[in-house]
Amino acid sequence: MSLGEPPILVRDRLFIGNINHAAKVLQEGDEEITHILSLLSSASISFFSESRSNISIKTREIQKVYAGPELKQVRMAVPLRDMENENLLDYLDVCLNFIEESRKEGSVLVHCFAGVSRSAAIITAYLMRTEQLSLEDALESLRLRCASVCPNDGFLEQLKMFEDMGFRVDHASSTYKRFHLKQLGESYNRGDKIDFSKFGTDPGSATETFSSEAANSAKSTKVYRCKRCRRIVALQDHVVSHTPGEGEACFEWKKWRSGNTFNCSDEVECSSIFIEPLKWMTAVEEGALEGKLSCANCEARLGNFNWSGIQCSCGSWITPAFQIHKSRVDLSTL
Ligand SMILES: [Zn+2]
Ligand SMILES: [Zn+2]
Repeated sequence: MSLGEPPILVRDRLFIGNINHAAKVLQEGDEEITHILSLLSSASISFFSESRSNISIKTREIQKVYAGPELKQVRMAVPLRDMENENLLDYLDVCLNFIEESRKEGSVLVHCFAGVSRSAAIITAYLMRTEQLSLEDALESLRLRCASVCPNDGFLEQLKMFEDMGFRVDHASSTYKRFHLKQLGESYNRGDKIDFSKFGTDPGSATETFSSEAANSAKSTKVYRCKRCRRIVALQDHVVSHTPGEGEACFEWKKWRSGNTFNCSDEVECSSIFIEPLKWMTAVEEGALEGKLSCANCEARLGNFNWSGIQCSCGSWITPAFQIHKSRVDLSTL
């Protein structure tokens, strides 16, 4: 996509473009394009909007640009950097819905800085969802219109997860849970303050007990209770599953353990479960790299946490890890 060329039509009423295209549409208006989805770093979003108009854009809020009394354009700006560890998944719903709505009312331009990675990732996801295409097929189909598109590797990985989750962002799926955990781990490694608000609800806390309605539907819910005092430690839903013996580390570990290499997916039962961080884990909030996890009621030792990972008895490394020893809890129905 070179300077001076118009934005590229990907589908009826859907264009991909770069920052120059967006600037031109915002400044001069456009016969066709009525809606703009901007994917830029938050710094560029404010610079870009201030230089164009005196309306500042609050990120992810929809801004309506008027020329006189007439509505000229509707624009939504989403803060997204073109980096592999950037969280694309959590923005997909809001972006894809904006594209869908915009196409009903007019034509939409999806743009980032160069029109290569971020905008391409969002449009690829949109094609995947609306046309039920695999990641490969959606990307190939987009490349037929715009050969230069190339979402970064981290975005591709997340789009693959989007495909695995059935073209939606399913927060209950283990795919999403692993992703969320990884994001938390990366945030910890960057030295960010631990965001306790992102920890899961404590299923054992009195103030968090289920409504009777929810409790009825939850009767079949499997819960882990502290063996000593019976307090609920986690729901089955909080478990972030892993494939026993998955990954390179397992291979190494097996070699070291037995001196030869064989398929390690069977025979070893995991002695721990790994769960998402929950609000009763106050020891984690203090910011240490690793520590013990104790029952919030009787203080019995339940397991460990370690932001740089813990190896399960099956050989898999889970990073970051919030580990509960199976020997310290019982699994039962609610
Ligand atoms: Zn395991
Ligand atoms: Zn206990």
